[in-house]
Formats: sequence, structure tokens, C-alpha cells
Amino acid sequence: MIEVAVFDTKPYDREYLNQAPGTERVTWRFHEFRLCLETAAAAKGARVACLFVNDQADRACLEALVLHGVKLIALRCAGFNNVDIAAARELGLVVVRVPAYSPHAVAEHAVALLLTLNRKIHRAFNRVRELNFSLSGLVGFDLHGKTVGIIGTGKIGSITAQIFRGFGTEVLAHDPFPAPDWAATHGVRYVGLNTLLKESDIVSLHVPLLPETHHLLNEQTFSLMKQGVFILNTSRGKLIDTGALIAALKVGHLGGVALDVYEEEQGVFFEDLSGQVLQDDELSRLLTFPNVLITAHQAFLTREALGEIARVTIANILHFETGEPLIADTPL
Ligand code: NAD
Repeated sequence: MIEVAVFDTKPYDREYLNQAPGTERVTWRFHEFRLCLETAAAAKGARVACLFVNDQADRACLEALVLHGVKLIALRCAGFNNVDIAAARELGLVVVRVPAYSPHAVAEHAVALLLTLNRKIHRAFNRVRELNFSLSGLVGFDLHGKTVGIIGTGKIGSITAQIFRGFGTEVLAHDPFPAPDWAATHGVRYVGLNTLLKESDIVSLHVPLLPETHHLLNEQTFSLMKQGVFILNTSRGKLIDTGALIAALKVGHLGGVALDVYEEEQGVFFEDLSGQVLQDDELSRLLTFPNVLITAHQAFLTREALGEIARVTIANILHFETGEPLIADTPL
């Protein structure tokens, strides 16, 4: 049996990991708390530490994991910005991830957020339940004929672009590694970042968090955007400078902002804080805008995605144990 310390687990993680093929060869040690230096000792005796997006595997934490006998870091997600990959390599740790569990889940959530925000479905739902059938303040716009800017046309961005094409929008795209054949097939036009920002009615982020994408949307890039632009971020919170976002919202420059991720989401997203005082003043401010819609990093949360995350995570662990080629080693 392979001992696996699983951090930041929720009931749905346990359900799907306990059902996936190969689970009978693994002893899961489920922990609800997140991994950090202070909690690394919980992996003592485990060969594998299994992490999610908000576990913090910095160098000191990785050193502690190695001391406790961990050989493999198995991420249950695609992004790996929360693991110091260079330190892991130096320490002889192998890092695997689930690069594509369901790009459709995330793309569909991005579009769901836009439709909800634009047509004010969330507000209408609450009104109607209180027998308020007034339509005042619920005016939206037709998506048809608008211009959508997709930043990052990898697995998720490309599907998002295709869905938006189905609404009859023009789609502009920006990516340092464009896919011209795909763009030609789907009627998508690659442009420079500034052109995309200037011409788009809706801007949707689908890039990984890297040093060069940190605060990709900031005071300067917001200033290039159209008055009334809608912004969607289902990728990583730190792609947006939250202070600049709030400033642009306060002056009425942005028509709507839909976020599934937030710069300082650790310790807040995925938790029930309904009985507590929210300590994050920027998040508190964001929640007061009528044209901001926030979900708590749930874009991945479909049955298909959870099943695939569990299947690939176990396959990664078993392949590591048997010396078979790893399914999803990090690209670094
Ligand atoms: P991917 O690797 O398939 O695609 C990323 C694309 O971004 C690539 O084409 C890359 O060339 C491009 N890119 C890199 N730097 C860029 C830049 N500076 N400007 C423009 N494009 C750039 O990744 P993916 O599977 O499509 O996922 C995208 C991101 O979505 C992930 O990195 C992750 O952060 C996020 N994500 C979020 C959730 C969620 O639940 N909210 C779930 C899965 C993934």
C-alpha cells in the first residue's frame, strides 16, 4: 500500500479519490488543513504528498517534506505556481500534476459567469424569490456582435473562444504561442495584447500565473480598455492587481467583473466563513459592487473534472511507484 498524505481535502475530493481506479493500492491520509511549513509534519511516513491549488510548497516546506520521507508531490490541479519547482528538483522530489482534467468545466464556468453578470440572473433570482417582479436595473446587452478578447489560447482559452464564437461574437486572441490553424478553423483573430485590450467588450484571462503574467491586468492595462468592458478571470487571482481593479470599478470604467479566483484567496476560498468577520478589506470592497460577481474557485467543480482529477492523480502515483513513464510531469 502506498501512503499518501492528502492536503486541503473536501468531501468531494475524498469521494472521487476513494472511487477512482487503483484506489485499493493506496492508503489515503486525508487532511482538511492546507500544506505549509507548519503542517508538513502531517506527511511523516507518507511517500506522496497530494496537494491542491492553495497548498504552499515553498523551499522550506519541501525540505520538511523530504525529511519526513516524501518522494513525490502529486498536484490535484493543473497550475503549479504554488510549488517551488526548482527547489523540488534540487531536493530530488518528483512533481506531477493533472494538466487537463476538464477544460470544458472551466470554459463553461467562465461563460456562465459572464451570462449571469450581464443578464443579472443572480439579482433576478433573489428578487423573484421575494415576489419582487420588477425589471428595473436588470438591463443587459446582446452578446451577439460584441468583441471578446481571449488572453491565452491553451486548452481552456481555446474552448472558451469556441463557445463565444457560438454566440456570434467576434473573438480576438493573444498568446505568445499562437495556434494559427485552430484560429482559422474557428474564425478567431490573433492580435497584439494592446489591440486586444483596446478593442474588446469582454476580456477573459486563460494564462498560467508566471512572473511575466503577474498583474497582467494593472492600472496601465486597464487604462487601455474600453469604457464599460467586462472582465472575466477564471485562471489565477494574481493575474490582476486587485487595488487597480477596485480603482477602475470605483470610477465606473468597468462594466462588470466576474472572478472565480482572487489574489489573496488562500484561507478564504473553499472555507465557510459565514459566521466570521471577513478580514480582507479588498475582498470586502469587491463584494460591495453591484457589477462584481465572485465564485470561490469552483470553475473546475464538475463530476467529469473531479473524476478525471482522481483518475490521473492515482495513475501518476502508481506509475511513480512502478517506474512507468509519468503521465503528467511538470513541464519545467
Ligand atoms: P494551458 O497551458 O493549456 O494554456 C495556457 C496558455 O497561456 C498557453 O497557450 C500559453 O502559451 C499562454 N500564455 C502564457 N503566457 C502568456 C501571456 N503572457 N500572454 C498570453 N498567453 C500566454 O493552460 P489551461 O489548461 O488552458 O489553463 C489556463 C489556466 O487556468 C491555468 O494555468 C490555471 O491557472 C487556470 N485554471 C483554473 C481553474 C479553476 O478552477 N478556476 C481550473 C483549471 C485551470
